[in-house]
Amino acid sequence: LEPNYQFMVRIRIPGGLLSREQWLGLDDISRKYAERGLRITTRQTIQFHGVRKGKLRKFMQALRDIGLDTIAACGDDSRGVVCGGNPMISSISRSVQELAQKTSQRLIPKTAAYQEIWYEEKPPVQPVNAEPVYGPLYLPRKFKVGFVIPPINDIDVYGQDVGFIAIVEKGKLLGFNLCVGGGMGQIDTREDSYPRLAQEIGFVQADEAAEVAEICMEIQRDFGDRQDRHRARFKYTLDRLGIPWFLDELQKRRGKPLAAAKPVAFTQNGDELGWKCGDDGLWQCTLYIESGRVNKALRDQLAGLFQVFGGRVRLTTNQNLQLIDIHDYELKQLKTRLADLGLDVLIDPNRQAANTLACVALPTCGLAMAEAERYMPAFLQKFNQLKANYELSHLPITLRITGCPNGCARPYIAEIALTGRAHGLYNLYLGGSHTGNRLAKLYAKNVNEGKILGILNDLLQRYKSLAHTEEMFGDFLVRTTLIDEVTSAKEHA
Ligand code: SF4
Repeated sequence: LEPNYQFMVRIRIPGGLLSREQWLGLDDISRKYAERGLRITTRQTIQFHGVRKGKLRKFMQALRDIGLDTIAACGDDSRGVVCGGNPMISSISRSVQELAQKTSQRLIPKTAAYQEIWYEEKPPVQPVNAEPVYGPLYLPRKFKVGFVIPPINDIDVYGQDVGFIAIVEKGKLLGFNLCVGGGMGQIDTREDSYPRLAQEIGFVQADEAAEVAEICMEIQRDFGDRQDRHRARFKYTLDRLGIPWFLDELQKRRGKPLAAAKPVAFTQNGDELGWKCGDDGLWQCTLYIESGRVNKALRDQLAGLFQVFGGRVRLTTNQNLQLIDIHDYELKQLKTRLADLGLDVLIDPNRQAANTLACVALPTCGLAMAEAERYMPAFLQKFNQLKANYELSHLPITLRITGCPNGCARPYIAEIALTGRAHGLYNLYLGGSHTGNRLAKLYAKNVNEGKILGILNDLLQRYKSLAHTEEMFGDFLVRTTLIDEVTSAKEHA
């Protein structure tokens, strides 16, 4: 007799894009095989919790039947390619989305072992060189790639191992600024462990993006630290060997240098909630999903919605769900249906909720030391009250809560972040930017809720009396030197 094992299963959904049929298929799979429903993750995909071992193979085959798989959703490989959106330039968004999907396809492992194990297919008669890129050893650690379309830094591009920032001029996609070496994870007990922002190092043409991502991944494959797993991420390789070395290596493998990066500016991160009409005349509606959790009630409501919705679905890296490709003639019926199902409240939650992320933490994640997802609503209510006391309810502040320092909800680039240390205790980080391009600084260690709210109360009071017009909270903290500006990763602790 063996223990009754259960698994978390994470899907590969490049750019978070699903057809209506795939959403309904995932709904069906969750009802049949996942005891604890489904969840939209901060990497723009879906993970299922509570899949019993005996049902795993059927689960994988059901996924295959709707055109999805779990290849490279976990493990020491490319770990999914995320893609931001910009509703106002939907035609550009579509092109960037296609490139993200192409890049994902290029970066995933090519072995037939997956099909052999899960689909029970016969192995190829003549085994081919199954892994031309990964080789026999795969990567030293996971490798995250993302595409973003300014001015909305919804994917937190500076937190990616490799990020592509779209450069758009006169309605045309020229290419991308390339940035490398971002990563959030850290271990509180090691000084040589830290989050790092990716650096913009040059510009590539749009049709070069997938190849450049692959070359960057190959360099990390060959030079990443395989002795010390905690130092194996790409960010540490770059700090150990240096950006000039990396530029040389990239040029050598690519056969030409990078062009100079072009000016870019972000104005926000987070999603644009609600209804937006794109430049192609199609509508999209972004629904706020608290912590990405699609519980049974919400799953049923969404199933009702999809009876009348014929467009596509896009998951976001902020764990929200977008209905996209909606024509004018569908609007009225869809709005009525959203209201009938009680889903219209998800279009306009309070502004702070839309700027708040929490990781899954307890009881689901084995690494969690404190609550995050389950604690977030109660903390948010108290934080909102503080903001209301100073008439700051309109002010969006990025707030992130994680159950451990690993940083799955990208805490270290938030204006306020709590990372779990023990039951009820958190490290408090402050002073990241609202656009996700500055690291937050450790402000207080091992503090409880009372202490955290006390600190925030004091800072909000100062903000109310001293902030410039339209100044964001994180920028205010740094300008007034209430928080030291973090200009290098090592200053953040
Ligand atoms: Fe788990 Fe830590 Fe990631 Fe939260 S941040 S999901 S607790 S590993």
